[in-house]
Amino acid sequence: MRPLHHDEPGPPCKHMEGHLQRTADGSAGMFSRWYALAHSAGCPRCATFLDRLRETLGRLRRMKADTTTDDQGALTRLASGSWREAGSPRDER
Ligand SMILES: [Zn+2]
Repeated sequence: MRPLHHDEPGPPCKHMEGHLQRTADGSAGMFSRWYALAHSAGCPRCATFLDRLRETLGRLRRMKADTTTDDQGALTRLASGSWREAGSPRDER
């Protein structure tokens, strides 16, 4: 019998990888997300994987948001005057 090392980081379960990735990036469906979260609750390796994925994605998103806001995005918004309607970019058709 091998002892279980719950703190030991490792690859997530093969069949869970896709669910975990979609859950982390927000593209998971309700079932996929529930399945990944339910599994992570009892599987430290998948939980760690999910945590890291979220952290990485969050950092990437923040970096992207920063660069977009700092130059292009802000300038485009200023130029087009759409900064007045903040928060509803989906209304453009
Ligand atoms: Zn797992």
